[in-house]
Amino acid sequence: QAHLDRITAVDGDVHAFLHINAEALKTAADVDARRAAGEQLGELAGVPIAIKDVLCTIGMPSTAGSRILEGWIPPYDATVVSRLRAANLIPLGKTNMDEFAMGSSTEHSAYGPTHNPWDLERIPGGSGGGSAAAVAAFEAPIALGSDTGGSIRQPAAVTGSVGVKPTYGSVSRYGAIALASSLDQVGPVSRTVLDSALVHDIIGGHDPRDSTSLKDTWPSFAAAARAGATAESLKGLRVGVVKQLDAPGFQDGVKLRFHESLAMMEEAGAEIVEVSAPNFEYAVAAYYLILPAEASSNLARFDSVRFGLRVNPAGGGTVEDVMAATRGAGFGAEVKRRIILGTYALSAGYYDEYYGSAQKVRTLIQRDFDAAFAQVDVLVSPSAPTTAFKLGEKIDDPLAMYLNDVTTIPANLAGIPGMGLPIGLAPEDGLPVGLQIMAPARADDRLYKLGATLE
Ligand code: GLN
Repeated sequence: QAHLDRITAVDGDVHAFLHINAEALKTAADVDARRAAGEQLGELAGVPIAIKDVLCTIGMPSTAGSRILEGWIPPYDATVVSRLRAANLIPLGKTNMDEFAMGSSTEHSAYGPTHNPWDLERIPGGSGGGSAAAVAAFEAPIALGSDTGGSIRQPAAVTGSVGVKPTYGSVSRYGAIALASSLDQVGPVSRTVLDSALVHDIIGGHDPRDSTSLKDTWPSFAAAARAGATAESLKGLRVGVVKQLDAPGFQDGVKLRFHESLAMMEEAGAEIVEVSAPNFEYAVAAYYLILPAEASSNLARFDSVRFGLRVNPAGGGTVEDVMAATRGAGFGAEVKRRIILGTYALSAGYYDEYYGSAQKVRTLIQRDFDAAFAQVDVLVSPSAPTTAFKLGEKIDDPLAMYLNDVTTIPANLAGIPGMGLPIGLAPEDGLPVGLQIMAPARADDRLYKLGATLE
């Protein structure tokens, strides 16, 4: 009830939510009754959680921020959602996002932008700005996001929250509306490192319904966070600073807080090592070929027949005319831009030159990470090059928007885990700055341990 009251009080300004779960209080009462009857319900039982609208939820619309799915109610839950329900968490509602998770500001939502609770004239990051803003505005204690190129870590950074992109394949993508299938990962957003770890423990692990799901067994991330929180020092930990992600073009206050946190780690006994990742220079370019290529293929399913919107052209027409009218009306400008780019990059004659080259660059970036992790245990960088920018500032300049992802994209291309956590406010604007920690694939526990020590 407290969270619903908070939503009523502030969400008119913040616009983090697209839908509120009408069953939330009833589910909460059921959980209370079962607990009162002595049932053992798990550590997060009864805790409300906000869910990014890219995830399918039975009984609640799931639009992925797009008109083309307006009013569509999925007949099934995403695996992560059914795991949360099984652990007795309470879905609070669905959060706003850039259409089909394409963007870094939540301004590309078909349902209007979300505002940053720290300053309502600024962006909450994207694409999962709704989830991060809900957590930062105390409308929800925790949330789920999805991260294809930074959509959990960058919103976490600009709202002063914690966010984790798990190892690719460690959290099920079943029921997560696909953007770029080789990059997408679902993960938690929260106010503390332990909260993210507790959610990750519930949603993670093998799912036979996701063909890229890893069969590993995972350690308890909550245990790693608790061990980190009580650690006396960072002695023996080798922390790599990626030269290419500590760039001169970054905002002063971001660099200041980042270097302060390096000094803190060093003082606590960590060894700080500069590492070079020469191919990171090409990461944004490779990503913005691979992502549109995969997205153009994934979004072909919105054909006016199977899901959501159907627009019949005046005077009738062929199936193709209906499809064109529906996609013309249902997709926003950024989605159309990427479908065109991706279709072009995949077309006969250009495939090798564009998609093929981008995949080779991806391998080189993975090798940069391998070489770096041969020297260090974790890598760190700022989560984003700037603090929250103003709404409208980059909306007409797609390239400026894309460059905002320079720090987060490499981890997605390599499939490795990354965490963003707050490290203070930039003195020049008083807005939150985030630290990104990256670890080798499958070593997500290192993020939680170090993150909890630092916070
Ligand atoms: N800003 C990135 C993009 O626009 C992030 C996408 C994501 O992680 N969903 O593609």
